[in-house]
Amino acid sequence: MLKLCARLRQQVPLESAQSTKHGVHRGMSSVTIPPPACMLRPLEAPFRYLFGPGPSNVPPRVLAAGGRPIIGHMHSEMFGIMNDIKKGIQYAFQTSNNMTLAMSGSGHTAMECALFNIVEPGESVLVAINGIWGERVAEISERMGAKVHTLVKTPGGHFTNAEIEQALAKHKPVLFFLTHGESSAGLVHPVDGVGDICHKYNCLLLVDSVASLGAAPLLMDQQNIDILYTGSQKALNAPPGTAPISFSERACHKMFNRKAKPVSYLLDMTHLSNYWGNDGKPERTYHHTGPVSGFFALRESLAILAETGLENSWKHHTEVAEYFWKGLEDLGLKLFIKDKDLRLPSVTTIAIPEGYNWKELLAYIMKHHRIEFTGGLGPSVGMLLRIGLMGYNCNKANAAMALAALEDALKQCRMSKA
Ligand code: PMP
Repeated sequence: MLKLCARLRQQVPLESAQSTKHGVHRGMSSVTIPPPACMLRPLEAPFRYLFGPGPSNVPPRVLAAGGRPIIGHMHSEMFGIMNDIKKGIQYAFQTSNNMTLAMSGSGHTAMECALFNIVEPGESVLVAINGIWGERVAEISERMGAKVHTLVKTPGGHFTNAEIEQALAKHKPVLFFLTHGESSAGLVHPVDGVGDICHKYNCLLLVDSVASLGAAPLLMDQQNIDILYTGSQKALNAPPGTAPISFSERACHKMFNRKAKPVSYLLDMTHLSNYWGNDGKPERTYHHTGPVSGFFALRESLAILAETGLENSWKHHTEVAEYFWKGLEDLGLKLFIKDKDLRLPSVTTIAIPEGYNWKELLAYIMKHHRIEFTGGLGPSVGMLLRIGLMGYNCNKANAAMALAALEDALKQCRMSKA
């Protein structure tokens, strides 16, 4: 070891001597941009109560896992950790799909991966839009050259199976997209029966569970979902930046029998399935460098979910949400989703109370309580406030703290200049 260090140190003068000979002295390169002053100050990341729709606060155990020493992304131990993650996702999704993995990227990466791999340019997709996530999927599909058909409701609305069937019969899409937990409206969409209807029309079902996984019941195999994805930063409580996804046999058949390669190299499932050891080949070859620390943290968060048990996690989110909803109603606030069964337990939405400026309410709560709540998103901007209590943050003490902050803000911010 000592010998190696000595050799490394010796290389430096040798190299500089060589460069000087050719007229370039590496030690005296002429930089014109000075080191920025901010980079000479230590990192500042204040503590905040993240009670918005995500990211959520991360438990110390998950932070510690993410802070462990880096290992190589192609080391056998890393492959072992990725195999564990795959099993953890199969449990969280309730699927036995072999084609299960985590994307190196946020929820959008999984969304794009599903669309880029499943749909070929010119093919039809049907997108249920009742908030921002359907809008996003429609836009991505359009960008990649698909024929996009939409089923549209205002935020908070949902689609009956009859409406979905009618649209499938009319447009004959290869893929139907539905958001399970519409975080921009606070709605949990019914999924029962939708997969069967899709298959009747030879269509695959793609479901977004970024905001609902671990908080509201979802059973990928039993509900015949073909592609399901989620994010790391919501009820799973890992840092943002990884996104579990799974593909059914049907979905694999479609994506691995394409006429043309998917437009994205990074998100091409032929490569990703090899990277995750899902393609049956004896060797995994380099495709991209996965987020090693992000995968450590994701493994830990999936371990917590496995220890807790999915059913306990769903029950716990519902109990805390119901306690919170009651507290909100006691404050005289109106819940945006009227039907209790359609309320997303992880993200509660409340109508903006009359006589208040919603931006002022949020700013007051952040300034005086260090709590993040958010306003609407996309089509729900200006309609509602969003409060997320998920995973590690999901407990009655936090719900009480959120209620107290709201009560205080309602007293202090009344009849502003709005
Ligand atoms: N879908 C839903 C339902 C979401 O709530 C979010 C994140 N707010 C996303 C997709 C996108 O995820 P990300 O921000 O991680 O890309």
